[in-house]
Amino acid sequence: MEYDVLVVGAGAAGLMTAIVAGGRGKRVLVVDHANRAGKKILMSGGGRCNFTNTATTPANFLSANPHFCKSALARYTPWDFIAMVDKHRIAWHEKSPGQLFCDDSSKQIVRMLLDECAAAGVRVEINCAVSRLRATETGFGGDTPLGHVRAASVVVATGGLSIPSLGATGFGYELAKQFGHAVLPLRAGLVPLTLSGKHQERFDGLAGVALPVEAAANDASFRDALLFTHRGLSGPAILQISSYWEPGTDLRVDLLPGMDAAEALLEGRAERPLAELKTVLAGLLPRRLAERLCEIWLPNRPMRQYRDAELRDIGAQLASWPVVASGTEGYRTAEVTLGGVDTDEVSSSTMMSKRQPSLYFVGEVLDVTGHLGGYNFQWAWASGNAAGLAV
Ligand SMILES: Cc1cc2nc3c(=O)[nH]c(=O)nc-3n(C[C@H](O)[C@H](O)[C@H](O)COP(=O)(O)OP(=O)(O)OC[C@H]3O[C@@H](n4cnc5c(N)ncnc54)[C@H](O)[C@@H]3O)c2cc1C
Repeated sequence: MEYDVLVVGAGAAGLMTAIVAGGRGKRVLVVDHANRAGKKILMSGGGRCNFTNTATTPANFLSANPHFCKSALARYTPWDFIAMVDKHRIAWHEKSPGQLFCDDSSKQIVRMLLDECAAAGVRVEINCAVSRLRATETGFGGDTPLGHVRAASVVVATGGLSIPSLGATGFGYELAKQFGHAVLPLRAGLVPLTLSGKHQERFDGLAGVALPVEAAANDASFRDALLFTHRGLSGPAILQISSYWEPGTDLRVDLLPGMDAAEALLEGRAERPLAELKTVLAGLLPRRLAERLCEIWLPNRPMRQYRDAELRDIGAQLASWPVVASGTEGYRTAEVTLGGVDTDEVSSSTMMSKRQPSLYFVGEVLDVTGHLGGYNFQWAWASGNAAGLAV
């Protein structure tokens, strides 16, 4: 079997690469070891796929080389993908500012990508792992259940390690190393944080409580919802900051974002001098959390018994609450993998390896990781487009 392009991985980036390359007349084979194409797309966005973010900029991505993603993102914008979605008459809506979701189902996005592949003459084979991939004089050769495959170019689109039950493997990283590439340290991103010991016990029973916060670590901060879970903390603010957090990093949460907490408490004292602190706080925070804060950390007295300085001190604590997380829930629940194939050894305009001609890396296998909100798919589409134009 002879192809111009062998794409390993029928996920977001691999299918986009195939569509663009096939559209240029290339003979393309996409193989995936899973029993379905685009499994992560199907799971994404709660089944409605947050397929892009119209506010995408390079600042929405983490990478050892923050410039790497610029060229591909500039050449394939969210509006290019929206045009494809519209062409297939898939209805969508903007949920939070910039975040676009299907009205109906993420199945429509996978159907669209497979239909585009068919229209471009791309062959997609599932339940099809590739092994013993080697460089040859004319390109590459590898073994598959279909037989030996030869291809002039190979595109590695095997994604990250998150959610192994959806088909994630480290195959792409191993392949990169086989061809002499450095793989920057991998860790789970966009992932709930865990608490343990006394730090967990103190929040015991609060699972399900949610509130708006601003979470900050390592010079990054995100204002969004925090959710207490049975094991620790989740919610979009925590998922976002998890990508910037590592064990030992100082993590702070402003429990009253956008509010001068001290002023709010001083006002509370003026309005309700006989009320206890926990009652006043329950007007500002979820009641169960307010009560817990006053049981464990904050002195609980009638408001009139507090001096200004004490209320200012409590306000300062609420604005910068230290969170001592023990770890993350790991790849089992993470949306993405941070780190990956070092971009210094990959062309930012074509995604081709600088070490092995005609070998390409696209999507999450690269050391480019987006924030929560449709950015990771936009990177998959944009990097796939760049490679598809070059193979
Ligand atoms: C639960 C969940 C929800 C998400 N929701 C969103 C969202 O709403 N918006 C967003 O932007 N991002 C979301 N993401 C992130 C997004 O899914 C990924 O960043 C994106 O899918 C990466 O695209 P990719 O093509 O690089 O990898 P993937 O889409 O993961 O595709 C990789 C493919 O390679 C295949 N593969 C792996 N190993 C091998 C092998 N050895 N041989 C053959 N094939 C192999 C896999 O089966 C898979 O099909 C979500 C992630 C998860 C886990």
